[in-house]
Amino acid sequence: MALERLGSSLYEALKKIFKAGVIDEATVKELARDLQRALLQADVNVQLVLEISKRIEERALKENVPQGVSRREHVIKVVYEELTRFLGDKAVPLKVEPGKRTVIMLVGIQGSGKTTAAAKLSRYFQKRGLKPALVCVDTFRPGAFAQLQQLANRINVPIYGDPKAKDPIKTANQGLKQYSDKDIVIVDTSGRHKEEHELIKEMKMLEKNIKPDEVMLVIDGTIGQQATVQAKAFHEATPIGSILVTKLDGSGRGGGALSAVAATGAPIKFIGTGEKVEDVEAFVPSRFVGRLLGMGDLETLIEKVRDAEVKVPEKKAKAILSGKFTLTDMYEQFEAMKGMGTFKKLLSMIPGVSYKIPEDMLNTAEGRLEKWRVMIQSMTVEEKENPKVFNSSRMKRVARGSGTSEKEVKELLKQYVMMRRMLKTLRRKKKLPFFGKGLPLGIK
Ligand code: GDP
Ligand code: MG
Repeated sequence: MALERLGSSLYEALKKIFKAGVIDEATVKELARDLQRALLQADVNVQLVLEISKRIEERALKENVPQGVSRREHVIKVVYEELTRFLGDKAVPLKVEPGKRTVIMLVGIQGSGKTTAAAKLSRYFQKRGLKPALVCVDTFRPGAFAQLQQLANRINVPIYGDPKAKDPIKTANQGLKQYSDKDIVIVDTSGRHKEEHELIKEMKMLEKNIKPDEVMLVIDGTIGQQATVQAKAFHEATPIGSILVTKLDGSGRGGGALSAVAATGAPIKFIGTGEKVEDVEAFVPSRFVGRLLGMGDLETLIEKVRDAEVKVPEKKAKAILSGKFTLTDMYEQFEAMKGMGTFKKLLSMIPGVSYKIPEDMLNTAEGRLEKWRVMIQSMTVEEKENPKVFNSSRMKRVARGSGTSEKEVKELLKQYVMMRRMLKTLRRKKKLPFFGKGLPLGIK
């Protein structure tokens, strides 16, 4: 099972949409199938998978596409929204009412971030005017109490625990008795035992005895496949009520977290985004899906490219599109690209876009720009505006004047003819490769 690959397989499915020449019924159907496969491989409930993919297909095909938005963008938006709904429908915020004590028991393997999360959550509710308290029942790991105590002291949250205690259930009950007047009590448990079986048994016993209002699974957002295994193991011991995904500040895309949702049926309620006690956020499904699909980055990139497009005056762009494309225009296009510095890198990060622009064209643009500039400067106005007039003697003259060779002048003209042809094709197809609008060369 390729559970850890959910994020990337969803991304791959979307990439096809970026690459497709046209977005028609067949493309959308294929996307729906790809999404089904990706979600099923991630153990998402079959019924749910069918619902999601059906809705995506229907919306993508039937909904009207607003003006200024391409069909391609629309389809991507639909996928994004439906996946968000999948996570979002279940995203019920943790309800804590003043005067009515809520007990949260954190479970998860060692290193997942439980102890940090316990402190983070108490800080989170403290900031919202509630009275939190912490109970440490990790009687297995030496130093566990001291770690939580240190964090608790920093934020002035009362903590109960006994570094010498051996019985987690007894400690838990004592702590809960002491904090009967608090709004929320967070119980931090052990994450390691000599045997995993023992750990699961302990969690089961604890849950039975203290009857928390909610068992919250703490899962490391950077682990892949293990997320499902872990989530399942804990879910069998104590029904998981909610999930807190940690370490989403790192490079991990959090695909494993979605698997944990799938494995437990429990919603994600919080995410950890750093090592400090302040680094916790209530979970916002849309933001998470964006991250999962890599759409966050994509949006920024699209924005950047759009900014860059503005560099070409509209009047000129219209002239080029309506048929006039001179050597000067071509030079200006490449100059504009150079101004964008990492234009090539930028484009290569957008699925489907880099693929549309011939590699050698980009290389040429970056490498030979300076030579082209002097060559074009050596041309007469007539030659620049109407390169058809070039014959061998004119080429020789330009080569001499610019300190280049006739061969290089020929290459420049060849490049020009190639680009003009490309523009013609684009005009004819009326389908511009770049998100349906704008030319890849920055012409709007
Ligand atoms: P526990 O064994 O489950 O109690 O995990 P800890 O709370 O002791 O955390 C294990 C490690 O992960 C520590 O080094 C934490 O600082 C770190 N950690 C916990 N949460 C986050 C997070 O959201 N982001 C980052 N970057 N590190 C975290
Ligand atoms: Mg701990």
